[in-house]
Amino acid sequence: NNNNVNQDKSLLHGNATSSNGHSSELLNAAIVSLVRNENLEGIRRTIRQVEDRFNKNYGYRYILLNDVPFTDHFKKRVQAIVNRPIEFGLLDKESWGYSPYVEEEIVKQKLKENKDKYIYGESLSYRFMCRFQSGFIHKHPLLKDLDFYWRIEPDVDYYCEMPYDPFKLMKDNKYKYGFNIAPPEKSETVKTLWKTTREWIKDNIDLLPEKSFASLILNEKNEYNMCHFWSNFEIVDLSLYRSPAYESYFQHLDRAGGFFYERWGDAPIHSIAAALFLTKDQIHWYEDVGYHHPGYEHCPIPEELNNKCLCNVDKSFTKNSHCQRMYKEQKDITRDELLKRLNII
Ligand code: GDP
Ligand code: MN
Repeated sequence: NNNNVNQDKSLLHGNATSSNGHSSELLNAAIVSLVRNENLEGIRRTIRQVEDRFNKNYGYRYILLNDVPFTDHFKKRVQAIVNRPIEFGLLDKESWGYSPYVEEEIVKQKLKENKDKYIYGESLSYRFMCRFQSGFIHKHPLLKDLDFYWRIEPDVDYYCEMPYDPFKLMKDNKYKYGFNIAPPEKSETVKTLWKTTREWIKDNIDLLPEKSFASLILNEKNEYNMCHFWSNFEIVDLSLYRSPAYESYFQHLDRAGGFFYERWGDAPIHSIAAALFLTKDQIHWYEDVGYHHPGYEHCPIPEELNNKCLCNVDKSFTKNSHCQRMYKEQKDITRDELLKRLNII
């Protein structure tokens, strides 16, 4: 088909990256990471791989964000990898900090209580991070006009050549959310997330689509099954996060305090939103992307997908993952079916 011809041509010619670094064929998209000055070598490692596997043929922008100013040393060393200007952004006070709805004294007490219950149990900055990535990243001045982002993190690995433009794949197929690994969340971190989500659904039925992939995230008891897309890799049409439904959902969650009193992650929140607001054919599994983030990795299993990868299929988490199976096997359900399963109608 036509798309393939165009892709091959642009690869063959190393793509038309003009002198300002932006090819005319590029979409309005960027590769984005929130990162600390201390993660300099980790983010260099990641960007080096993204360049080698994919972006050297395209020249998409990189946007790096931080809650404190990047040091000159950091900027210089990251910039040295890519011969186009990298954009560095600072977060404002509203987007990095306490929710206005929580009480700092109670937060302190909860952090103490949760210290040994799960990783980052006592970390306040981790809460700020999850709240930022859930409710604010898409509104940052450097991102607010972007159509798509690809989120990366320090110290991840990309194992395979990527011979096409994933943003164009999103656009051409009307995909809104792209993921790679789908593990279950630790339920202790999201004790009241489903209850809070159900409340929001009940009060905002008119914001739900006629049909959605909500079946992905429900168990036999019609409660949250803990499945989520690991958001350290996500390629997203940002209109999802900018939709009135998403904003209303986020506001409701922020009010409930669970980012702080518990440890709600941006991954389950993005994932629940994708399942509630999108249909299955709008959610794409980047099965062909070999990927590692400390903890899990995905190596494409079919041989034709891993020919150009340097990973081990036996180590692939996705081989035996319950949530990955849910993604394959479940089908869209109607809004009425969802409301019935949640005992709302
Ligand atoms: P994990 O993947 O859940 O273990 O959490 P990470 O420590 O990898 O954090 C997720 C993302 O947020 C990574 O891109 C980190 O670089 C970033 N991050 C986490 N905490 C902070 C922070 O306090 N400041 C900044 N600037 N970035 C952070
Ligand atoms: Mn991480």
